[in-house]
Amino acid sequence: MNSPIIVENSFLARLARLKLGTYSVAMVLGNKIHLSGATREEFLNDPYWVAHEMEHIRQFQEHGKLGFLRRYLLDWMRHGYYNIPFEVAAREAARLNASLYTQGRPLPDPAQMHQGAR
Ligand SMILES: [Zn+2]
Repeated sequence: MNSPIIVENSFLARLARLKLGTYSVAMVLGNKIHLSGATREEFLNDPYWVAHEMEHIRQFQEHGKLGFLRRYLLDWMRHGYYNIPFEVAAREAARLNASLYTQGRPLPDPAQMHQGAR
């Protein structure tokens, strides 16, 4: 897998942040992680957050860009953001895979992880 590209101060992520009403947002589109309200360093320093977004990258690869987006948006309308199956899976992946993204540091307390929309 190619390394993901991190886009800071993303306009698209800013729209998502306003829609979700959260302080900071990371949004995956294909192989890019779009950030708004958080710097690249803040993002990379939260291994749970990185693991969450890496799961979305995997989902994009599995379903294709259009397949992912179509299903994501339909599920959002049907179930609400928190219960989108792609989000449920990403939250699970955050806990399971965070240890892969600690950059050699101890795993932080899960209570410290970035909080997405509720
Ligand atoms: Zn997510």
